Amino acid sequence: MDTKYIFVTGGVVSSLGKGIISASIGKLLQARGYKVTIQKFDPYINIDPGTLNPYEHGECYVTEDGMETDLDLGHYERFTGIHTTRHNSITTGRIYKAVIDRERRGDYLGKTIQVVPHITDEIKRRMLRSPLPTFCPPSLTLPNCSASNRQLPRGEETYSPNHPPLGGQEGGLDFVITEVGGTIGDIESAPFMEAIRQLRWQLGRDAVCVHLTYVPYLKAADELKTKPTQHSVKELQGMGIQPDILVLRTERHLDDAMRLKVAGFCNVDLECVVQSEDMPSIYEVPVNMQKQGLDAAILRKIGIPVGETPAMKPWRDFLEKQRNAKRELHIGLVGKYDLQDAYKSIRESLNLAGIYNDVKAKIHFINSEEVTKENIAEKLDGMAGIVICPGFGQRGIEGKIIAAEYTRTHDIPTFGICLGMQMMVIEFARNVLGYQDANSAEMNPDTPHNVIDIMEEQKNITQMGGTMRLGAYECELKEGSRAYEAYRPTPDPSRDGGELLIKERHRHRYEFNNKYKEEYEAAGMKCVGINPAADLVEIVEIPEKRWYIGAQFHPEYSSTVLHPHPLFMSFVKTCLNG
Ligand code: GLN
Repeated sequence: MDTKYIFVTGGVVSSLGKGIISASIGKLLQARGYKVTIQKFDPYINIDPGTLNPYEHGECYVTEDGMETDLDLGHYERFTGIHTTRHNSITTGRIYKAVIDRERRGDYLGKTIQVVPHITDEIKRRMLRSPLPTFCPPSLTLPNCSASNRQLPRGEETYSPNHPPLGGQEGGLDFVITEVGGTIGDIESAPFMEAIRQLRWQLGRDAVCVHLTYVPYLKAADELKTKPTQHSVKELQGMGIQPDILVLRTERHLDDAMRLKVAGFCNVDLECVVQSEDMPSIYEVPVNMQKQGLDAAILRKIGIPVGETPAMKPWRDFLEKQRNAKRELHIGLVGKYDLQDAYKSIRESLNLAGIYNDVKAKIHFINSEEVTKENIAEKLDGMAGIVICPGFGQRGIEGKIIAAEYTRTHDIPTFGICLGMQMMVIEFARNVLGYQDANSAEMNPDTPHNVIDIMEEQKNITQMGGTMRLGAYECELKEGSRAYEAYRPTPDPSRDGGELLIKERHRHRYEFNNKYKEEYEAAGMKCVGINPAADLVEIVEIPEKRWYIGAQFHPEYSSTVLHPHPLFMSFVKTCLNG
């Protein structure tokens, strides 16, 4: 089957959950046996969200191939289990950079470089995931998909030369789902809308536009209002895009008359007006969408026989477990970003591990900036375990160190992730090894006891964007360690000689300083996960504690609904047996 394209746009307000709807569509099509991928196009100018403060845009998610991306990619992976890549997260900045780099190379010599066609063509190429030149059916002679594109060289933009060009490596996708960030009417998303308009026209039935809007409920009038949806669709139509399917986000049930009204005013078939009511959990959304026939409507629009509705047994079994998980498990999240989305993947990983252990993880944010030696006992009161969060810079680190000391000395299960692991290491140096001034070179480059030091390969790097140690690297686990036991139930063909080889994703510049390794091990903190290529310490643990493990990598990025991460599973299990 030729690849089909689904475009997901949003209107009326932001934060409607386009990412969840896109991930749900992906899940539903996957359940029907189709090969799918989901990609996000963000209209901001940053090359990637790697340099963004989490307060601006929530968590920065990292793909296996080392792209720093929007947190929606986390939803895509958690829902579908697919591995996204750098081709699944595109920004306006990346589009412009690719075009400007080519212009500087002289590839367009003689041409005036313009938003239309050059920027829109670059957007289209990436939406289609095709290598250059841009897709252009011979029968169509749109001026903007001709000469200028055909002359372009193959290849990704120059800042990531180590990665394969678009397309080619993934062949055989049945569906490419493209979510466009922002809200219809934003000035900055106009080129993306124009690209969708052109593709819709060129691809005919091979493309479907799904538009997500909001139907507010006015309490005083006791009425649901469809006018914002009508306006949003008009705006889309004004840009030449007729949505095929409308997903109406609503807090109240919409009756058929209401849906009919929307259908009539928006030129959309009644069966293509789907409602997405608030659900107790985002993981209920795919089955709710299936119940309303969203996937069937998409297939019908494209002209594919709908066939039987898949049972989605594993997913439904998970939902059943989720509904039954009533007992609460209190976990403290020690971090500096007082914002739900800042630690999105960690929260979801804890939720998922909780559900598989038949409990509801109640996550309590503990602001590390407010933690003191005096109040730590009170702050952690009632917590079955804590996660010490990743992060950058000085702010809030002393609170993380105080928390690490308290949980170590009180034997409370503790999971340090990236900076969290580094803080566990520093705490141990200060309070066990006796190096009062121990620190990370990140916080104090002149610290005499730099137990966390800058990685060799990072020393000469001056540019901030995309230059950390990013993506998946191997790690060998020491037999008999708690980390090893946590991973062991997963049969891994790469197991060899009593050691387990795992692969986890990273995002850091600093590392455990191997100079101190023997001292740590002698004093009881063991280095139980090592990257074989660089001899870099990836996991530390104190075996005599119930669960005191720090990971330099980010296990939260690879925890999915059907495959919760073994470290989170093991951590939650220990917290439960308190
Ligand atoms: N700031 C630390 C480093 O760069 C930790 C990074 C993180 O927590 N993601 O090594």
